[in-house]
Amino acid sequence: MEKFLKKEIGLGKKGKTVSGIAIFLFFILSILALFLMGRKISGQIHADVENNIENISQKNAKFIEKELRNRQTLLKSIAEFLEESPTFDYELIAEKLKLYADNYDFFDIGVLTLDGKLYTASGIRRNVKDSYPYDEAIKGEEMISESFPAINGSKTRLNAITMPVRIDGEIVFILVGNYRTGELADNLNIHTRQGNGYSIVIDADGYAMIYPSYGKNKDHRKIVEYINGKIEVVPEGHTTFSYEDQTYYAQFEPLGINGWYVMTCIEEKDAFLSANEILWSVSAGMVFLWSMILVALVLLVTIYHKYQTKLHNTVFIDPLLHERNYEYLRVCFPHILKEDRERMAFFALDVDKFKAYNFTYGTRNGDKLIRYIDDVFRSTLPEGRIYRHVSDQFVGILPCENQEEAKEKMTGLLDKVQADIEDRVVFPFVLSIGVCMMDGYEELQAIYSDAMAAKNTVKSSHIHQCAIYNGEMREKSVKNMELESGFKEALHNGEFQVYYQPKYDMRDGVIIGAEALVRWVKKDGTIVSPGEFIPCYERTGQIVRLDEEVLDIVCRQMKQMEEGGIRPPRVSVNFSRVHLMKPGITKKIKEKIESMGLNPSLFAFEITESALYDDGISLNEIVTEFHAMGCQVDMDDYGTGISSLNSLANTEFDVIKLDKSFIDKIGDKKMESVIRSTITLSGRLGIPLVAEGVETEEQIKCLVKWGCHLGQGFYYSRPVPAEEYKEMLWREQNTKTSRRSCGGA
Ligand code: C2E
Ligand code: MG
Ligand code: MG
Repeated sequence: MEKFLKKEIGLGKKGKTVSGIAIFLFFILSILALFLMGRKISGQIHADVENNIENISQKNAKFIEKELRNRQTLLKSIAEFLEESPTFDYELIAEKLKLYADNYDFFDIGVLTLDGKLYTASGIRRNVKDSYPYDEAIKGEEMISESFPAINGSKTRLNAITMPVRIDGEIVFILVGNYRTGELADNLNIHTRQGNGYSIVIDADGYAMIYPSYGKNKDHRKIVEYINGKIEVVPEGHTTFSYEDQTYYAQFEPLGINGWYVMTCIEEKDAFLSANEILWSVSAGMVFLWSMILVALVLLVTIYHKYQTKLHNTVFIDPLLHERNYEYLRVCFPHILKEDRERMAFFALDVDKFKAYNFTYGTRNGDKLIRYIDDVFRSTLPEGRIYRHVSDQFVGILPCENQEEAKEKMTGLLDKVQADIEDRVVFPFVLSIGVCMMDGYEELQAIYSDAMAAKNTVKSSHIHQCAIYNGEMREKSVKNMELESGFKEALHNGEFQVYYQPKYDMRDGVIIGAEALVRWVKKDGTIVSPGEFIPCYERTGQIVRLDEEVLDIVCRQMKQMEEGGIRPPRVSVNFSRVHLMKPGITKKIKEKIESMGLNPSLFAFEITESALYDDGISLNEIVTEFHAMGCQVDMDDYGTGISSLNSLANTEFDVIKLDKSFIDKIGDKKMESVIRSTITLSGRLGIPLVAEGVETEEQIKCLVKWGCHLGQGFYYSRPVPAEEYKEMLWREQNTKTSRRSCGGA
């Protein structure tokens, strides 16, 4: 059964596995998310790098073009000036050009004659007819040259801008302006991704035209060397290429001069430098977040499991016994297999008057008793299961083939309890057990209430402590429910009425008293006899209210009789032993009788013999109190309970009512001698004896012969309504003069 419970409350292995799988999945999904995020970031950075180097390339191209075109325009302006004011004094021109060299960042500026002589502002006077780019310049083209080494012997590399000067349409000499390649190239590289990228100017064949001096940047030089002449890696726009195990991102931006390009490139690792940083910080953040989530999850799962366990214990574990309780059985019951049910009995058991036990021995011993019951069951019937419901109420299941086996097992349990009581292991108590075979029951409630119905049949019985359920018990139980629920309304509607059954002196047939007997006269006229509802109301405690109602009615009717000129003889009112347990009961009765202006000696109270064995009642005290107020006390149903010879001597009863079951047996010799002894005993004790339930003349004759003179029974009269009883009295009192009263009052 345990596994069903675990399933029910989610404490099973499965629950833990599911939690584990959920956490694992969470992590897998998180890693996947990180991977996808990484890819997305990397893609974005790719795009970003491409955009970035494209922008840089464009800017660099514009910058270089502007720089070169500015210088070219300057040379053109100078050429136009010289064309308007022609002079062939080359020394003078070179001297004048010095000013421009300083102001416009030329490395050198000068004149190249058509026969190849160079006159520069810096003082160079040399024939350069055969050296590049002067050999080209002599041809008279406006030209921007590629990089070439300076002719002054320094390591400086230069680019030259040449501009022919024409007079009358004929080229007369050429202006030549040189600028440092490195200066332009350095400016380009400044802008390239925090200095990690390179920008150079190349021609369409990949040859470097403008680039920084070789010694400055080794990587840079490598790229220049690699790219030189590799026409296939010089497309327009964007490309990537590999060189010495490195991947490069490159952008080729057309320059608009000589068909050149500005090539901007960057190594992949540098391009992703910031991307990697971002990725690392995002990953670190994620890992931190996951750790936090994991810790939170573990905490949550731990707290949840703790909470579940606590909840489980609160709901399913009995706080006193630390064992599984009724709730546990309630959850598991539907899962018990049909074939198992066929060989199982369900039982309900409790302690008779557990309240009184607690009151008498203290709640600590009450708790001990609960523990004892649980232990004794587990040790005596280990094959069974017991669960506490509330207070002293236990339920459980017991494997057994049939009712007989169930009863046998329960008898074994009761024997063990009895032995323990005798050995003083536990204070005396009485268990009541109701057993119901489980076959055919689907719902716990149904079998529980049937087992309770069985248990109720043995409640307060001094003979049986265990009953097996049968169909009649259910009917009885339903009936009891109806009785219980209908009580209040019946009381309110005045449906409870009092009938009187006169008691007679059997020698002369004179009424010497009467017994007040309650009847439930329903609205439809049906009369319910007290035998049906009194036991029920005794169990529920409603009897107390009913007894009060009966006494009220009797008082009223006695008063009416007195006022009607009738002298009612003593009336005996039945008082339940439940009622006798109420503290201050006699005082209450006295007040009631006196408030009606009646003489208490008009009343007797009948107490059943079994009340003598009720632990909660100190009978002697009550009898004394009744006597003190002037009322009589009769022992009812004498002979039905456990032998009460002692009680006759110990308690000051005024009258003994010999139970009808004895009277019925007149004719049986053995029983006759019991009756005769009882009559003799009562005579010796000086307590009058009333024979209950006399039905025949023969019985009367015998009883009178044996010395019992007082009787009550159908032979004389059935219990009759008050009006009828009144008439009987009236008739008698108006025909006879004498009147006696039972008990000698
Ligand atoms: P009980 O006090 O022993 O009352 C006598 C019962 O025997 C009455 O039954 C009466 O009708 C019946 N009886 C008397 N003579 C004969 C006879 O010759 N033959 C037969 N067959 N029966 C006879 P009833 O009225 O049904 O009452 C049953 C029991 O209910 C009473 O037994 C008494 O214990 C209880 N009871 C009745 N009224 C009250 C009440 O107001 N309060 C309490 N607490 N119990 C009551
Ligand atoms: Mg009675
Ligand atoms: Mg009786």
